[in-house]
Amino acid sequence: MVPAEVTDRFVLALDLDGTCADFYGRMREIAAEWTDTKLEDLPKDADWELEQWGIGQANYRRFHRFAVTQRALFESMAPIKGAPQAIRRLALEGIRVRIVTHRLVIPHFHEIAVAQTVRWLDHHGIPYWDLCFLRHKGAVGADLYVEDSPENIAALAGAGKDVVVMSNFTNRHLDTEAGMRAENWVQAEQIIRRKYYAWLDGHGLDRPVAPGSEPDWAAGTDHL
Ligand SMILES: [Mg+2]
Repeated sequence: MVPAEVTDRFVLALDLDGTCADFYGRMREIAAEWTDTKLEDLPKDADWELEQWGIGQANYRRFHRFAVTQRALFESMAPIKGAPQAIRRLALEGIRVRIVTHRLVIPHFHEIAVAQTVRWLDHHGIPYWDLCFLRHKGAVGADLYVEDSPENIAALAGAGKDVVVMSNFTNRHLDTEAGMRAENWVQAEQIIRRKYYAWLDGHGLDRPVAPGSEPDWAAGTDHL
């Protein structure tokens, strides 16, 4: 079935830091500079406040502010491997991508944080329809969420939302629903597509003929 017009789309809410963007990889580099430590001497994994990288709770906000305002943190992170390509394929298949990020954590640098975020998304060719900056991510409606933060994962799951957990050292200890943990974007793309195709079937919409191809019902309506 190919309806004349489809206004109802599957909405995919994507977290950025630790999910699409290699937040911890870039923060480790900046921490090495901040503490005058060789990068290879810093462990790969740290805790939430980066204690193992010489930052810790007492210094975290100062360090975070330095990273964003002086080292363009949100613009200089590498994407998590394969993320832009997977997101482009999924968007072409008719998914509505909604970026949901809690980056306005420190006062008085919102303009730079938002500008860096938009430039990063554009630079890496990540398509999106909506860009939301907020802490309580469940307030943003979506059919599926992709997250790495244990706090957000718990809040979303507690609200009955479907959450794909993007694995990293912050969340390895969590029990995750079977089939909902992704070790990388190859797996994340497969999980998202499985959920999306089930949604299409339930809405009587044709599936794309192949991964990364645009279904007829979605043609001409995107701004990718
Ligand atoms: Mg995150």
